[in-house]
Amino acid sequence: MTNTMHRMACASRTLAAFVLASAGTLGTLRAEPIAGWPQPDGPNSPVTITYSYSNLLDGSLLLLSAHEIRAATEESLALWARYAPLHFIEVPDAGPPPSDIPYDGTGDPRIRIGQHPMPDIAHAFFPDDPSGLGGDVHLDTEIPWTLGAGRWNILEALVHELGHALGLPHELDRPAIMNPSFPQQLYGGLGSTFLFTADIESIQAIYGSGAGRLEAINPTPEPGAIALVATGLVSAAGTSLAQRLNRVGRLRRRQRSSERIRA
Ligand SMILES: [Zn+2]
Ligand SMILES: [Zn+2]
Repeated sequence: MTNTMHRMACASRTLAAFVLASAGTLGTLRAEPIAGWPQPDGPNSPVTITYSYSNLLDGSLLLLSAHEIRAATEESLALWARYAPLHFIEVPDAGPPPSDIPYDGTGDPRIRIGQHPMPDIAHAFFPDDPSGLGGDVHLDTEIPWTLGAGRWNILEALVHELGHALGLPHELDRPAIMNPSFPQQLYGGLGSTFLFTADIESIQAIYGSGAGRLEAINPTPEPGAIALVATGLVSAAGTSLAQRLNRVGRLRRRQRSSERIRA
């Protein structure tokens, strides 16, 4: 394969239907009603959205600590909340382990962020998915996600997929984090995220303008665990760094051999 452009594949049933229904010019796409989360008092008024980590912090993402994943997720949510009145509140997770099987989401967090092995790089479900999957964000377990500049920056995946979880479709005509190409290698680490004008216009087309906030549960890990993770000796899940790097090496070899091209 010579063209190794990866696509941020978002293969939910809801998204597939959305793309087909809005194929055409940008103007046509914008004219389509975009379903976001309920906003009781209308545009520009506060929207409360609960979120949780389903299994994202269980140590399966090999190169990132739970602390780093939390920091990346919180930065990604806060980025969207900078431009629209979105109030994200972290709650304890509830619901089945992440998969793409619909479930009854009554009472569950609206956005559940997790990982599972998948043919995509990452995917998300629109808010109007009729099942509990609506709003859920899933990353591929077997990607060597990192925070730094480079191919598998988790911030780029999280900002993009959270955009879908808030109701945004792909942006095909202008520079945008909601462009389906991945990786665009836009971000270089914590504190480096930004949105393009097209992204800001899209989120404000759904919720209006204003600013929201983020309320995260204090992770409060045990001090001893922090010290070990900080020195790289033990991951949050207790595997050694050497074990994790061995596994990443195996995964990378497998990726090269199968050329993970996505539609
Ligand atoms: Zn996408
Ligand atoms: Zn999934």
